[in-house]
Amino acid sequence: MQISRNKKLPGINIKLNECGLKATLPRIKVVEALQNSKKPLSAAEIYKLTKKYTDRASIYRSLRVFTECGITDEINLNEGFLRYEISGKKHHHHIKCDNCGAIKCIDICIKLDVEKLTGYRINKHSIEFNGVCPNCLKNYS
Ligand SMILES: [Zn+2]
Ligand SMILES: [Zn+2]
Ligand SMILES: [Zn+2]
Repeated sequence: MQISRNKKLPGINIKLNECGLKATLPRIKVVEALQNSKKPLSAAEIYKLTKKYTDRASIYRSLRVFTECGITDEINLNEGFLRYEISGKKHHHHIKCDNCGAIKCIDICIKLDVEKLTGYRINKHSIEFNGVCPNCLKNYS
């Protein structure tokens, strides 16, 4: 079953092509790293996973282009650097554990509530949460 070996790749090739980008191995590796990760990755983390195929400068460049053409989303968790995840998931937010660094996607947004509350039409917003994850809470007690 050769086709099912890597189900996600054909889609990526098409997306890259739509953006006028060649599906080069380094670019594919960066996208794969993001697809295989359960949490949004920083450029440094992506570099650790893909350094056999690419270098830091190319990763930064790729991520910028990917974000511009909607392949990835930028996530700012106030860490002094950005994280990235594959775009296409429904709009959502993130929560980060201050203790172990675990990050979870939160599938709710209060934008509509805020619009209702204020009468504003919101153009952009960013909401991040920091706390202590259930695992770390368990270890504390
Ligand atoms: Zn934790
Ligand atoms: Zn997410
Ligand atoms: Zn939101």
